[in-house]
Formats: sequence, C-alpha cells, structure tokens
Amino acid sequence: MSKRDYYEVLGISKSASKDEIKKAYRKLSKKYHPDINKEADAADKFKEIKESYEVLSDDQKRAQYDQFGHVDPNQGFGGGGGDFNGFGGFEDIFNTFFGGGGGGRRRDPNAPRAGADLQYTMTVGFEEAAFGKETDIEIPKEEECDTCHGSGAKPGTKPETCSHCKGAGQLNVEQDTPFGRIVNRRVCHHCNGTGKYIKEKCGTCGGVGKVQKRRKIHVKIPAGIDDGQQLRVSGQGEPGINGGPSGDLYIVFHVRSHEFFERNGEDIYCEMPITFAQAALGDEIEVPTLHGKVKLKVPAGTQTGTKFRLRGKGIQNVRGYGVGDQHILVKVVTPSKLTEKQKDLLREFADISGQVPDEQHESFFNKVKRAFTGE
Ligand SMILES: [Zn+2]
Ligand SMILES: [Zn+2]
Repeated sequence: MSKRDYYEVLGISKSASKDEIKKAYRKLSKKYHPDINKEADAADKFKEIKESYEVLSDDQKRAQYDQFGHVDPNQGFGGGGGDFNGFGGFEDIFNTFFGGGGGGRRRDPNAPRAGADLQYTMTVGFEEAAFGKETDIEIPKEEECDTCHGSGAKPGTKPETCSHCKGAGQLNVEQDTPFGRIVNRRVCHHCNGTGKYIKEKCGTCGGVGKVQKRRKIHVKIPAGIDDGQQLRVSGQGEPGINGGPSGDLYIVFHVRSHEFFERNGEDIYCEMPITFAQAALGDEIEVPTLHGKVKLKVPAGTQTGTKFRLRGKGIQNVRGYGVGDQHILVKVVTPSKLTEKQKDLLREFADISGQVPDEQHESFFNKVKRAFTGE
C-alpha cells in the first residue's frame, strides 16, 4: 500500500506555515478521532493524520520528508516500521496545544509517549555514496530491559500503584486564600510522577526499566546519497514509554572526497591532461568514470579548457529520478623535459610556422627590468 502525501492528508500546501499545519491538524483530528467518529475507517484516517502532523510539525523531519519523501520501512532500512501505536486520549492532543495545566485537564502518567530520536553520523566513500551500500552500524541506545520488559519490577512482581497520588502522578495541594480556595497540582515526589511504586526492583536495570546496549542495525544506504543528507530509519530511536512508539534514528552522511572526481549534485567533474600532439592532431583517449573506462574522441585542434560531456556517466538521483553526466575539462600539458631531437623537431615546426623562438635563457623579469632602466 502506498502512502499518501502528508501535505495532501492535511489538505495544505507545501509552503504551509507551522500555524496552518497546526490548524489543519486540529480540525481533522477532531473530525476523525476514534473516540468521536464511529465510521469504520476513522481509526486509519486518524493514524494517517497524526503521522502527517508528527512529521510536518517537526522542522527536521519535515525537511527530510521534503527531500526524500516517504522512507519505505520495507526497503531494508532496518525495519521497525512506521506504525504509530496507541492514539493517546482525545484530551491529550489538545493538551499539547493548550499546554495542559490551566484548563484543569489531568496528564495521565500512564499515557503512551513516543521515544526520543537519535542521530548518527556516518562517513562513506565517494563511490559508496554513488552506488549505495548495505552495512551494519552499531549504535549505543537505551532499550527496554529484557528481564522486566520495561516495568522495572522484579520478575513475578508488579509495580504497585503509588499510594500517595493513587496512580495519578500528581498531587492536589489545596490552599485557602482571601480569594477562595485554590487548588494547585504538583508532581508526586514519592513516585516522580510515574504513578507507580516498585517494591522489588528488577536486578538487571535497577528499577529503571531500560538498559544501555550497543545495537547492531542493518542499513541500506541508497545510491546517490550526498554529503550532508540524512536518512530516517523508522522506529530505531529510543523506545517509547508506556507502550508508546519508538523514536526514529537519523543517519547523517558525510561523503569523503575523491582524488580524481568532483561531485556537484548528480554530475561528476574531472580534468584530463592531454599532450600538445593529441590536441593538435586529435586522438581517442580513455577517461575513467565511476562506471569504468570510457573512450572519448578528442578532435584535431582541441584547445586547452575545452569541455566534453559523457551523458549518463554521473551519479544516480537518490530518489531514482535519472542519472547525472560526467563533465571533462581538457588540459593541454606543455612538455618540460625535451631531448635534443625533440627540440630540433619543434624548432623545425616553428620555422615552418614562420616563428623564431627566442630561446635565450633570460627571464621575462630581467627583460622588463632592462626596458625600464634603459641598460
Ligand atoms: Zn529490568
Ligand atoms: Zn505518586
């Protein structure tokens, strides 16, 4: 099943401002929230709306989406999938907008929360970037503790509801003032706002529910990736809390330079030295490309600085839209070490061309100096 465009889902333009995105999301999420809308496909629509909003409201994710579109989790980017589990309560969505508090809404400490995103910088070779590569990377990350499955409690036991806040994670502190009774909410310090109390802690994680691990992730670097571009590996960030979705892993690429090729987008640039004879008489030269050696015809009378183009010998577009070209700048190299025979032939050549080269070993600088001082 192909995914719909996020902008299309929210019914906004590509240049929509943050405000417009927020407005569109509020309107649509109200309409399709499964607590309100009882149509059969409301849940799917709501998921789609939520996912679109989560990406477009985050500057980094939005830029990444604009550049690469949907990253298909089935294309081997480490799996994980892009499923957003748990809708969160209807009130939760609006708490995000109104900042909670104030309106008297209670934040549920047991509500699912998404895990944090992770960033990883990967250095790849010039050709690896051009052709893509599959590789394993190891990233340090927090994972749910296997022993207690994230509860933090010793196996066979369960976290108990905090007796001080009765699981709410917050305590009401009432205060009488000249204006009447004011109720303040504070985070419950007995359970640090989790609403739970762990009597017997898990021995592996010490009650935290998470452990630090190095995790191997299989990554498929797409062909055509360029320096500074990034890849989102869905669901490979930090684990969510209370069953919320995991965060994403962003791999930022640094592409090493090449000794012969230069890259600009999908096009490759290089310089080819040729001799004076090749330039004057014409020749067929071998040019290295990323795709192997290619023969290039240099016509007779080619000047230094002439540019040639080899179509389709550049780099594949990272989104699959065509292939770039290779541009070749020809440089005629003047020989610096000549044998007597070579010199004689060149003098003869000059003579036929009607030139008399001044071969005296006097520098240009000395000549100029003499002209000024009148020596
Ligand atoms: Zn544990
Ligand atoms: Zn408590």
